[in-house]
Amino acid sequence: MSKKKRSTNDPFHLNGKRAMVSLGPLNDNAHCPYRCAFCYVQDEFVSYANLDVDDIISFLKGNRKKYDIVYVSGDTDSFAPPRTDRGLELLYKIVMEIDCDLLFTTRTTFTEDNYHTLKRIIDEQKRTQNMLYACVSITRFSESTAYLEPRPIPTPIERINVLRRLKELGATTVLATRPFLPVVDVQDYLQIIDMARDCIDIVLGECFYFIRGGTVQQRVFPDGIPQELEEDIVRNQRMSFDDNSASWDIWDSSEYQEAVEMKCKELGIMFAMHSDDGVQEYLLTCRTSI
Ligand code: SF4
Repeated sequence: MSKKKRSTNDPFHLNGKRAMVSLGPLNDNAHCPYRCAFCYVQDEFVSYANLDVDDIISFLKGNRKKYDIVYVSGDTDSFAPPRTDRGLELLYKIVMEIDCDLLFTTRTTFTEDNYHTLKRIIDEQKRTQNMLYACVSITRFSESTAYLEPRPIPTPIERINVLRRLKELGATTVLATRPFLPVVDVQDYLQIIDMARDCIDIVLGECFYFIRGGTVQQRVFPDGIPQELEEDIVRNQRMSFDDNSASWDIWDSSEYQEAVEMKCKELGIMFAMHSDDGVQEYLLTCRTSI
C-alpha cells in the first residue's frame, strides 16, 4: 500500500461540493480488508487519517459549510468485515447529527442485523428529507477475471443481491461498474447491469488510473501491458477526484463508456462517469418529476 497517510489536521478530502471521509487504513500493513488488483491506494493515492467515529463527526460539523454531500468512500471499504458495525455506526451518527445528503460505497454483504440498522439510517434520511445513496461496486463478472477482486470479496451475484435488499429498504441505489478495465470484457459490465436492472437508480463508470511500473499495473496486467493498448493510454495526469500530487496514467475507456451508456439508455437508467454528475442529474430528475 501507499505508505502516505493524511495528517489528523487534514484528515479527509473536501472538494467544495462533497466531503469524502472513511474509517481510514485497516492497519499499518493494509489500507482495506479487501485487496482489489486495481485499487489506486496501492500506489500514490494518499490514505485518509484514522479517526474515531466521533472525531469524524466533529470534522464534518466543523467543515459543514464546505460541502453539500458526505461520501463515506475513498481509500478503504469502511463496511467490510471486521469493521462493518463501525462503518454503520458512522453512517448512523452522520444521519442523526448532520443535516445533509449521504452516499456510501461498499463491496461487502450485510447480515440481517446490519440491514435492520441500514433501514433506520434510510428512514432517518427520509424523515429529514435528505438523500441516501447506497453504492455497490462491481468491477467484473467472469470467473476468468476473478483475480481482480480476490476473496473474501463477495461474488458479483452476492453484491447484486445487496443492491436489491438496499432498494427494497428504500435507498437510492447506485451500481458502480468501476473502474472500466481493458482486461475485462465490456460484456461483463453489460451483464452486471442487466442482472441488476430492477434494483438500480444510477450506474457509474470511471476511467482506469495507474502509476507506470507500479503495483496496480503489475496486478492488473500480470503479463504486461498489451502493446495495442498503449495508444489509448494518456500519460502523466492528475486525479480528478483527489488532491494527491502523483502523475497517473489513464486508460481511455470511451468504447466501454459508450456501450454502457447505451445499455443504460435502453433500460431507462441514469449513467454517469463521475458520481457528482450522476447525483446532480438524479436530483434534477426527481425534482422535475414531482
Ligand atoms: S474495496 Fe475499494 S478501497 Fe478496498 S481494495 Fe477494493 S477498491 Fe480499494
